[in-house]
Amino acid sequence: MSKQPNISLRADAEGGCLCGAVRYRVSAGDIAESGYCHCRTCQRQSGAPVVAWFAVPPERVLATKGSPSVFRASDRAGREFCSRCGTYLFFREDDPAATLSVNTATLDDPAGVPPAFHIYHESRIGWFETADRLPRHARGRS
Ligand SMILES: [Zn+2]
Ligand SMILES: [Zn+2]
Repeated sequence: MSKQPNISLRADAEGGCLCGAVRYRVSAGDIAESGYCHCRTCQRQSGAPVVAWFAVPPERVLATKGSPSVFRASDRAGREFCSRCGTYLFFREDDPAATLSVNTATLDDPAGVPPAFHIYHESRIGWFETADRLPRHARGRS
């Protein structure tokens, strides 16, 4: 995966689920990737037409309250969510060298982490469109 060194967190960023049972902190630094995912699995899990996410090394994300439950939709990763309110929070690959994907809208201040591309655009819902000129990848980027 190519890097996007132009996107970074200038300070630690806090986030959490809708009910507050799960809280986390992302330490400041560069963000490896930030994009929109239109895949059917993200659509189903979030109940929304698209999920905005960003990726950082897993050691940069610290659980500060509670811990999410895990749903495995594939044999290579877990999808972590609050078992009380259902908020979809993290996509964690089994490969310990892989980045951890955080769902951007669960940040307390998501505005500072803009998406830079679309993936799984082939699954975009026909009535959903964003007004941007970002790269649109039919599936993944690699
Ligand atoms: Zn919750
Ligand atoms: Zn997805």
